[in-house]
Amino acid sequence: MTDLSRKALGAAIFHGWLTFLWWLSSEYLLPFWVHDPARLQQWQQTSGYLWLVLSALALFLLRRPLVRWLGGEELQRRQDADHDRLRIASAVFDSTREGVLVTNDKGQIVHVNRAFVDITGYQPEEVLGRNPSTFKSGRHDASFYTRMYQAIGAQGQWSGEIWNRRKSGEVYPQWQNISGIQGNDGRVRHYVAVFSDLSAIKRSEQERMQMAHYDALTGLPNRLLLTDRATEAVAAAREAKRGCAMLLVDLDHFKNINDSLGHSRGDQLLKAVAERLNGCFGTEVTLARLGGDEFALLVKNCQQMVQAAALAQKVLDAFKLPFEVEGQALFSTASIGISLFPNDALSAEQLLRNADAALFKAKRRGREGYALYTEELTAHAQQRVQLASELRRAIEQDELRVYYQPVHDLTTRQIRGVEALVRWEHPERGMVSPGEFIPVAEQSGLIADIDDWVLRAACTQMRQWQEAQAPLSFVAVNISSRQFGTGDLDVQVAKVLRDTGLDPGCLELEVTESAVMSDPEQAIEQLHRLRELGLNLAIDDFGTGYSSLLRLKRMPVQKLKIDQGFVAGLPADEDDVAIVRAIIALARSMNMQVLAEGIEEPQQAVFLHDSGCELGQGYWFARPMPAAMIDWQHAPDFRLSVA
Ligand code: C2E
Ligand code: MG
Ligand code: MG
Repeated sequence: MTDLSRKALGAAIFHGWLTFLWWLSSEYLLPFWVHDPARLQQWQQTSGYLWLVLSALALFLLRRPLVRWLGGEELQRRQDADHDRLRIASAVFDSTREGVLVTNDKGQIVHVNRAFVDITGYQPEEVLGRNPSTFKSGRHDASFYTRMYQAIGAQGQWSGEIWNRRKSGEVYPQWQNISGIQGNDGRVRHYVAVFSDLSAIKRSEQERMQMAHYDALTGLPNRLLLTDRATEAVAAAREAKRGCAMLLVDLDHFKNINDSLGHSRGDQLLKAVAERLNGCFGTEVTLARLGGDEFALLVKNCQQMVQAAALAQKVLDAFKLPFEVEGQALFSTASIGISLFPNDALSAEQLLRNADAALFKAKRRGREGYALYTEELTAHAQQRVQLASELRRAIEQDELRVYYQPVHDLTTRQIRGVEALVRWEHPERGMVSPGEFIPVAEQSGLIADIDDWVLRAACTQMRQWQEAQAPLSFVAVNISSRQFGTGDLDVQVAKVLRDTGLDPGCLELEVTESAVMSDPEQAIEQLHRLRELGLNLAIDDFGTGYSSLLRLKRMPVQKLKIDQGFVAGLPADEDDVAIVRAIIALARSMNMQVLAEGIEEPQQAVFLHDSGCELGQGYWFARPMPAAMIDWQHAPDFRLSVA
């Protein structure tokens, strides 16, 4: 019972007592004075009315002290305060910029405020009675919501970032606080979710990031971001034991353009340069603008300086066409400085500094060119890059030739087969040997085209020889280790065989020991697939790699070619003698044929034959030559020559 009701009950009992006393006196005292029963009844009636009037009068006169005593004023004040509080809460509810949503314990929305309408785009009548899951964005999985409900259940509230969907369909981030509101009995009756729209904050955060890390004119990463990425690239390269490169690109005489055409056109040119360079490279390369007319290229995976030099050449080539600036064609050139990790620099900062020093060198050397930080390498790299671009042209212009070197049977001395060897008929330099251009072709990726072309030419030639009934049983073609890594070599070879119609049994593919050993498992698989085509396989330059005998046993190889390095010392060099004998024994034990290459002296042929080597190839028999020049009857007797 409250204080107020206690007091009211007390006052009523007190008044009841007074009424009782009044009644007693009118019932028992009044007859002592009034003896006439009719008058007595009249008096008693009047006294009753009088008591009523007196009570009412006392109540009226004493109302204030009475109310004060009963605490009604406090009640009034409290009621007033409650009303005020409700009014304020409702004003806050409606004027706050945070969205508010109230649900009942069944999860139905019972209230939303004005900000809710502004943020979500839903009108109250569209959402009242519905479940808040209406706003789910689909960005969070079920476990997210489970954790949220668990937190509300255990702690009575949850707050965090949540992505919801507006009426327009747009998904946006909110910071939301959900609390359960308990009733008098302690049970949760309502849930109140208060949320703010974070999309503006996120946007401005993004804009700040953008401004701090990107160049305003070109939209490219700036120096800060480039340095960050370079640091990451160096760390990743160190971990993966590979290289990376930094190229600084500076426009030549950009100041003249600014001075003569104005800064606005200068800016337009920089934008055009940025766009063009951006189009030249993939995601492996970060293009940045460091300020002014200076750009940078960070190459995350760059094994060799030749690769970096080729990229620099690509940049220079990109400047060959004019840039369109406000309807005017502007020509520009650039100078490039290159530094490499780990050759020139061991940190991102050093990489940038050394690329800058190299750039200075390139400028001093006469602009429109590139320079490597390490001086000696520059000329070499330039030569190789030039060679690569010339080689590309050579393939297009049909400057490649195939020469054939006969392989002789050391017993009958007759020609048994030929090895196809590529040559480059350079318009100025004459015949260029493959030793010079094959490594360049391998680095620049041109080897795929070259090997395919040689294979096709050799198979076609072999068909012609067969038609002419030339006495030879095979043509051998060299396959680069690069081709081995591609995985679909067998598909390509099968296609050439189909196209040329050559019997696969007449084709032999030569792979070097190192090609096989760089990824033995994959190589063994590839060799099996090739072998299934019906052709023969030989290991070239045998003895120079680190073949594991165990792996050799698993390879479907029919021939070992003893490297000419071991043949050169025969028969005098004891080591060579031992090695050659070992290889022959090994081949025999594995049921393989042996071929010795590089036979320049008849003594070498005698020794090889006496040691059990079956086939021989070398200048003493014949040099590589055009197909038409092969003399099929040529069968020189090395024993006679020795004698
Ligand atoms: P290889 O496959 O070991 O070829 C043998 C090399 O030794 C050839 O050099 C040949 O001319 C040379 N040679 C032959 N007999 C003698 C000799 O008595 N003394 C000396 N000193 N050398 C001799 P070439 O034609 O310059 O080819 C060099 C290498 O280039 C080849 O070594 C092969 O690895 C590669 N190659 C040639 N043609 C192709 C091709 O079409 N594709 C691929 N991927 N590589 C090729
Ligand atoms: Mg070979
Ligand atoms: Mg060889």
